[in-house]
Amino acid sequence: MDYLPIFIQLRGSPAIVVGGGSVALRKVDLLLRAGARVTVIAPRLHDELRALAARGQLDYLALEFHPHHLDGTSLVIAATDSRDVNAAVSAAAKARRLPINVVDDPELSTFIFPAIIDRSPVVVAVGSSGNSPVLARRVRQQIEALLPARLGALARFVGDRRTEVKQALTPEQRRPFWERIIGGIVGSRVLAGDERDASAKFKSELAASYNLADAASGDSAAEGRMGEVYLIGAGPGDPDLLTLRAVQLLQQADVVLYDRLVSDGVLDRARRDAQRVFVGKETGGDHHATQARIHELLVQYAKRGLRVARLKGGDPFIFGRGGEEIEALNAHGVPYVVVPGITAALGAAAAASIPLTHRRLAQSVTFAAGHALDDDTLDWRSLGLPHHTVVFYMGVAQMPRIVARLTEAGASPDHPAALIERGSMADQRVIRGTLGTIVELARKHNVQPPALLIVGEVASLAKGDNDVLAVAEAAQTSASEPV
Ligand code: SAH
Repeated sequence: MDYLPIFIQLRGSPAIVVGGGSVALRKVDLLLRAGARVTVIAPRLHDELRALAARGQLDYLALEFHPHHLDGTSLVIAATDSRDVNAAVSAAAKARRLPINVVDDPELSTFIFPAIIDRSPVVVAVGSSGNSPVLARRVRQQIEALLPARLGALARFVGDRRTEVKQALTPEQRRPFWERIIGGIVGSRVLAGDERDASAKFKSELAASYNLADAASGDSAAEGRMGEVYLIGAGPGDPDLLTLRAVQLLQQADVVLYDRLVSDGVLDRARRDAQRVFVGKETGGDHHATQARIHELLVQYAKRGLRVARLKGGDPFIFGRGGEEIEALNAHGVPYVVVPGITAALGAAAAASIPLTHRRLAQSVTFAAGHALDDDTLDWRSLGLPHHTVVFYMGVAQMPRIVARLTEAGASPDHPAALIERGSMADQRVIRGTLGTIVELARKHNVQPPALLIVGEVASLAKGDNDVLAVAEAAQTSASEPV
């Protein structure tokens, strides 16, 4: 290790920055965030530094640097564009055994600045020992994506309760207790922004641990503990479309229950040693029985104290039966977190460049289920109106009926329609047509689920960089030619 990473407490301590330009400004900003009393020494000053000085947030000496300026300070930064001045500052600081950083000059420095992720009070520092600040910043970006935005809130939540826990539990009990709090439902609730619920759950966890500690039965405590369920929207297939929270929770789940629509790329984001359980409904299978079995599994795993990720294609609350699953969880007192996902309509529309609403072409949009058409719950006339977009999920098999009902209700056979098969995936296909042509095009190109049918003027904007689209356009032209 070339450098020892340490965190220095600077609150109220004097620090000197030599230099008054934009590089100095960045360092001053960091020092002020850490609460240092900053003095800037420079003949000329950057506007923003001048403003800070005017507001009394730093002291300014409009002078050339002199070594005696460093007397009595605690930390020095040289950020001038003259190597001679920087070298003089470095020599003066070293003579006084003060920590010195010369910006972008590890040779003249005794400490260097890491790239930081600030989720105060949690701070992550990444350094490359001066070899490549750009690389360190890249590493920081990668870590940044993994860390929940509310990490700082979680640290404060824990910090506020340390004394209480110290009084209630023995030193041996504390660590596993905190592991459970931070990695379990209390932590997830804080990270989701619900501190009130987290607080209530924390109280009952602490009471339970305390009572069990009293009874001196640590093992049975683990057995009786309730796990939790994360109902996660897995998006339309491309793993890069997962939300950051989905990835974070996938990384901590012990078991992953997933559907047929969840892609391998998404599953790969789960913790390597997590147990993966397929609970997909095969077409033609007994959906009702499968769903009941899923409820049973979710509850069973959670009751064993496990963290269960329930991955569902798209969004859990759009044709995802997420509502039924949380009813089952509620009935058994299993805590859960819902993580929204990009629903297929949004993912496929983006992938096919179809804006679902458009100032000129569509002022409203409907997501409809295309597989249960027996009842008359859909208002077919309004779905087929100009300036309206309708996206049919699960409609491949029923497409002839969907088209027939729309046209019977008044939609024109020229009304644009597009089919997006496996939207957002590598082998996505986009087929553009009209109500008059789309059924035939789908048959000709053998479109298979999962696919979405988008009907409305915006569908005429569909783009795809594959051959099928080109073929579809040709077919569309010939179909509309007079016979
Ligand atoms: N909860 C999911 C929808 C589940 S219903 C969501 O929010 O997306 C299943 C239907 O979603 C499929 O029949 C198909 O119509 C649609 N679908 C899911 N993934 C798709 C994809 N990648 N491309 C096109 N349609 C998709």
